[in-house]
Amino acid sequence: MNLSEVGEFGLLRRLGLLEASPPPGPVVGPGDDTAALPLEGGFLLCTADALVEGVHFRRGWGRPEDLGFKTLAVNVSDVAAMGGTPWAFTLTLSAPPALPVAWIEGLYRGLREACRTFGCQMVGGDTTSARDVTLSLALLGRTDRPVLRRGARPGDDVYVSGAPGESAAGLALLRCGRSGRFPELVRRHLRPEPRLELGRSLGETGAATAMIDVSDGLLQDLGHLLRASRVGAELWVERIPLTTRLQQAARELGHGVLDWVLAGGEDYELLFTCPPPARRQVQTLARAAAVPVWRIGCIVEGSSAHLLHRGRPWGESVAGYDHFRKPGP
Ligand SMILES: [Mg+2]
Repeated sequence: MNLSEVGEFGLLRRLGLLEASPPPGPVVGPGDDTAALPLEGGFLLCTADALVEGVHFRRGWGRPEDLGFKTLAVNVSDVAAMGGTPWAFTLTLSAPPALPVAWIEGLYRGLREACRTFGCQMVGGDTTSARDVTLSLALLGRTDRPVLRRGARPGDDVYVSGAPGESAAGLALLRCGRSGRFPELVRRHLRPEPRLELGRSLGETGAATAMIDVSDGLLQDLGHLLRASRVGAELWVERIPLTTRLQQAARELGHGVLDWVLAGGEDYELLFTCPPPARRQVQTLARAAAVPVWRIGCIVEGSSAHLLHRGRPWGESVAGYDHFRKPGP
């Protein structure tokens, strides 16, 4: 049996790494957006993510500055999903010897800009030679009270932030060489903006009962949250936000717009649950963070997500991203 047969999540399940360590243990181990280690009355958050050439990006697709920014941004997104604040990171750069130094300098310019944007600093790392470029970043963050994936309860509202699907549309445009047609969508893929302020305020106020960032696709990540919380959900398809440019790109490429939104991945939006009395507070926090949030469903008893369209079962099949089952870029 090889990796492509079990897939990313099949592998994690076999290794016992899919579910968070059960309560009442104070340490949250593998299975949430970051680890959370009790420290000085709060929690130290720890996460790692790698961007690999040929898997996550092609060098010819964009500026190295954007790639440097994204390398930190995707990790910051996981800290945001815990309601935390990023702090410090190490970066291991693997690169082929023939790589132009100017490209690496561009990469670090983007990384430094991300450090200023998210208020964190590089504190170490390593450089090695490799066949393809790999950027492997380990980020520490802090929070007084982490928002976990396992806190959703029946009756809670389900929200998603921003514009899921736009990054996947940008990737599709890059793949077919039409990136000039919708530069805003392509930018959403090459230079994502993690919802740091929104995540932090949802955590600090205690408004969110559970949270995850959307990196593998909205349905896939909702599934992670539901499994951790041992609940099900109704997802109301007609409430899912679709931007005009996203719908235009879907028409032009002949692609299903909801496929991008539900199964696209790399959105770095926040998917979270809140009890209904928090509705007004959620909108206030979203306005303060200048990010729209959309109430797209509710948590129910059960174990999976049911898609409904205007109250009727909606049967289209969509699947999230699995690293060992899909081809690279
Ligand atoms: Mg995550």
